[in-house]
Amino acid sequence: MNIYKQIYNEIKKNDKILITTHIRADGDCVGSAIGLREIIKSTFPNKSVKALHENVSYLDFLGKSDTAEDSEFLDSLVISVDNASKSRANDTRLNNATRIIKIDHHPNLEPFGYINFVEEEKCACAEMIFDFFLNFPKATISKLGIEALFTGIVTDSGRFKYSGVTGDTMKKVGMMYDCGLDAQTILNKLDESSFEEVRFKGYVEQNIKSTPNGVLYIKITPEVREEYDVEYDEASNMVNCLGNIKDHPIWILINEYKKDEIRCRVRSIGIAINEIANKFGGGGHANASGIVVKDYDTVDQILAAYDELLKK
Ligand code: AMP
Repeated sequence: MNIYKQIYNEIKKNDKILITTHIRADGDCVGSAIGLREIIKSTFPNKSVKALHENVSYLDFLGKSDTAEDSEFLDSLVISVDNASKSRANDTRLNNATRIIKIDHHPNLEPFGYINFVEEEKCACAEMIFDFFLNFPKATISKLGIEALFTGIVTDSGRFKYSGVTGDTMKKVGMMYDCGLDAQTILNKLDESSFEEVRFKGYVEQNIKSTPNGVLYIKITPEVREEYDVEYDEASNMVNCLGNIKDHPIWILINEYKKDEIRCRVRSIGIAINEIANKFGGGGHANASGIVVKDYDTVDQILAAYDELLKK
């Protein structure tokens, strides 16, 4: 039996379904969760299905997260989307679930589901969810579901720029347009910036530093965020201001959330960065990884490791 059919059968068998995803929400995890919820809700109107994700203001146009009682994790089928490991789940109650299906496009280092559907080569988990939808001629989806899946694909592919985007991806997005998707409105919402963010972007551009062999980085402290009146997530979103700079194929945005929690967002063009991220307890894709560390000494070790990689 193919994997789509296996997952479909499990959904058919269960009347209560919860969808969870990863911490520090982004467009793909929220889009995948809402997209899958909309497919199940439209196809099986009598089932209870909830999408549980962190709320982030720039994705509010897709709606806020549903809520669930602790007890629901014990007797529901839980589908985890876009999340590589249980330790990065947005909802720790995933640990209490007995039936988990994992749908993801990160390296499958922890196959924690009883069904694990993982396609590392896909540019977004939302594309996998759309494939799932297309495999069932009887399945239906709401307008919101299409918008959510489109949001997942455009955000995780860097507006169709990153590896993993194929002709097939474009054909699927074409189908979304044929269904009446208003892509322009969504893209405008996603690209909107506040006055404070634009000012802060100027700060980032003025303060980029380079390691001896050309790894670009910036260290952002809570004090600087306060000075520019930007939130932690808004500052994190500046990672691509450091990217696409000639002869600098690796860049890192270092954002201190609070004492003992410093997040490094690492990006690259053409060089795999996830091996070093794994070594420092992080993870991710070949060209987009993340690491959370406790102190700036470790940050400096990470910078040195990537500097050495570039030297080689
Ligand atoms: P981000 O910089 O948060 O967009 O993350 C880039 C990629 O790395 C995503 O696929 C994340 O799932 C993954 N990632 C980020 N932080 C971590 C971490 N601390 N541990 C494992 N994977 C991570």
